Amino acid sequence: MNEETIFTKILQGDIPCDEVYSDEFCIAFHDIQPQAPVHILLIPRKAIVSLHEAEEQDQMLLGHLMLVAAKVAKKEGLENWRTVINTGSDAGQTVYHLHLHIIGGRSLSWPPG
Ligand code: 5GP
Repeated sequence: MNEETIFTKILQGDIPCDEVYSDEFCIAFHDIQPQAPVHILLIPRKAIVSLHEAEEQDQMLLGHLMLVAAKVAKKEGLENWRTVINTGSDAGQTVYHLHLHIIGGRSLSWPPG
């Protein structure tokens, strides 16, 4: 599952996105089908298929993503939010380029379905 995804096309600028954050390692943009008042996707520029495929050498990048997720959530005015990484189809992953969902702006139930 190493073929180009919709997120690769967004990273390359071939498909537009509503960007909220960008640095040399990652970008964040609004989800096209928001599940809450705030629903942002944060993706690394490096094409890692999923957390399942992440490697030891990705440690710094993964830590960076967590800190950027908090930065983006706070920038969006959130004090409470959920950070979700779906890994594999049974977990709900539909785009095979690692991404974090940052979801907030309403009360969220638990456990997820
Ligand atoms: P997953 O289901 O893989 O965890 O999350 C993929 C997310 O990507 C979904 O929430 C879906 O709405 C979002 N998405 C899919 N295609 C696009 C797109 O072209 N643009 C944006 N901004 N989001 C997309």
